[in-house]
Amino acid sequence: MDFLAGNMGWIEVVCGPMFSGKSEELIRRLRRAIIARRRVQVFKPVLDDRYSKDEIVSHSEQRIASTVVSGAAEILSVLDWRTQVVGIDEANFMGPGLVDVCGQLADSGKRVIVAGLDTDYMGRPFPPIPDLLAMAESITKTLAICMRCGNPAKQTQRLFASEDLIVVGAAGMYEARCRACFEAGTSKQEYFPFARPQRQEGG
Ligand SMILES: [Zn+2]
Repeated sequence: MDFLAGNMGWIEVVCGPMFSGKSEELIRRLRRAIIARRRVQVFKPVLDDRYSKDEIVSHSEQRIASTVVSGAAEILSVLDWRTQVVGIDEANFMGPGLVDVCGQLADSGKRVIVAGLDTDYMGRPFPPIPDLLAMAESITKTLAICMRCGNPAKQTQRLFASEDLIVVGAAGMYEARCRACFEAGTSKQEYFPFARPQRQEGG
């Protein structure tokens, strides 16, 4: 939905695993809003500096200018009151305050487009996306391609050992997996590769 009657705000969420095109879809919607001459502001958390400090960039190199914030609360303090469309990327790194901030933005008549991971490396719902889904008018779930079997993938597979919920990384550290191929936590094959040469018994 690109146009809303009057000054009604709303919340739309784009969620899914890594490599599923969330940022690309966010950028596509923001570009269309800019073409429609809406005033647009885009925010991303300070944590995510993988590609660029003042732009959001998709894995396919689509990019759009953005403001880096330390967390959800800072969005309200740096927001231009004239802004009509608010884009938020990597929402799962914005903190629990994001739900309330998005509610306030939508209640004040702004179109809010939020993109983020809906599950963590254990396959658990990743706050605050689940609450945002309940608050949103529009939900889009993007699927990736399972890098193991080629089926549609909804999971983010971590390929290195860590108990930390948030470890920022990209290709090589994570891959998309389907329900059947997903291994909660760290992929066991990283520890026990098939390719390891077997020692001859006896002899
Ligand atoms: Zn699979």
